[in-house]
Amino acid sequence: MVLADLGRRINAAVHDLTHSNLVDEKAFDSMIKEIGNALVEADVNVKLVASLRKSIRQTVNFKELGPGVNKKRIIQKAVFDELCRLVDSHSEPYKPKKGKANVIMFVGLQGSGKTTTCTKLARWYNARGFKACLVCADTFRAGAFDQLKQNATKAKVPYYGSYTETDPVKVAKAGVDKFKKERFEIIIVDTSGRHRQEAELFAEMVQIQEAVQPDQTIMVLDASIGQQAEAQSKAFKESADFGAIVITKTDGNAAGGGAISAVAATKTPIVFIGTGEHILDMEKFEPQRYISKLLGMGDMQGLVEHVQSLKLDQKDTMKHIAEAVRDLRDQLNNIMKMGPLSKMAGMIPGLSNLMGDVGDEEGSMKLKRMMYIMDSMTTKELDSDGKMFVQQPERMTRVARGSGTSVREVEDVLTQHKMMAQMAKKMKGGMKAMQQGGMGR
Ligand code: GDP
Repeated sequence: MVLADLGRRINAAVHDLTHSNLVDEKAFDSMIKEIGNALVEADVNVKLVASLRKSIRQTVNFKELGPGVNKKRIIQKAVFDELCRLVDSHSEPYKPKKGKANVIMFVGLQGSGKTTTCTKLARWYNARGFKACLVCADTFRAGAFDQLKQNATKAKVPYYGSYTETDPVKVAKAGVDKFKKERFEIIIVDTSGRHRQEAELFAEMVQIQEAVQPDQTIMVLDASIGQQAEAQSKAFKESADFGAIVITKTDGNAAGGGAISAVAATKTPIVFIGTGEHILDMEKFEPQRYISKLLGMGDMQGLVEHVQSLKLDQKDTMKHIAEAVRDLRDQLNNIMKMGPLSKMAGMIPGLSNLMGDVGDEEGSMKLKRMMYIMDSMTTKELDSDGKMFVQQPERMTRVARGSGTSVREVEDVLTQHKMMAQMAKKMKGGMKAMQQGGMGR
């Protein structure tokens, strides 16, 4: 699991300091040092780590903190903010538009997970009401078209490729032209990766780009890339000028910090992370939420407490809660990562009932199936509090089929989702009262 150990170490360092009786400059310095070491060991670029340490130190200026100030909160917030800055490029990725042909081109080294991610992304857009398709412009690797074809067929995504044409530029152009004529909205072009950066590969990428004029170019980076990430992503940026990054294999044992350094090296946002080989194993990436999860603040109560401690304004707080509800899927994913399920199920109200009296392994499987179900729903369906399913029960059959589960399981998830939404509404009310009463901001 990418960066999970890092999260634990940072969390432990902050926890040790903020729970000790004496929060002095010496203890603060050793916390910063421990955070820095953990980041370097996770392959985050050394220069970035140095700048992060400096920023935390500047934000929490001990000499200027008065006696009445809550040092612990200031320290927590500084660490949280700086970690967010590390993974946030502060630039907006391209947002595909409905009713228009959006061409998305993928680049990256061979084996990074390009073809897999292309298919995951096509399915992701399909599930959100876009008409998506795939074009295989990899004529270099024998079997590339067959692999894409296999993935696309499984995901029920239309595809284009050629067994006879050897010019990738021609195949890419023909595929994109065909799908544009057929009014597809998301046309994803998979290009060939090589073993390393080669002039030939870069020239080919640029030619394909010129031919298909992508609205967005996405670079795929394997989480295990380590310290090479900076040089490689810069080389890709200079030639293909990608506008978004997907980090794959974050479920593996890789330290993962290298790939994260690519954000700073290229000032480009991470848009998704790959979390497994299954077509549904992909998560949208948002810096604040990712760091919250990294620091183990995945459960809703923890999230609310944390947001309160950050003293964000009310609007931001509500946004966090709304996002938390919408993404029950992420919440479940978090719980699965946190440890023995029997301990964790209690963290989400109603979940332990739903899980029944099953062992951890069976419970994990059940949770995974719940996530597949939620991934097969459109955003509108997820936001409708189950109403869309009451009005059109056939939606349940579609979701069950799409996620490889049963209608009964879909019903269970809908019930759970409704409970979460109700709980969030209650918490919203509670927080409002607290804020009006002066306990919050
Ligand atoms: P390409 O050469 O860049 O097109 O890479 P592929 O899409 O063929 O992926 C290479 C291998 O990585 C395959 O075995 C994929 O199943 C695997 N893979 C891709 N993404 C992920 C991921 O997020 N997690 C894991 N565990 N494996 C992945």
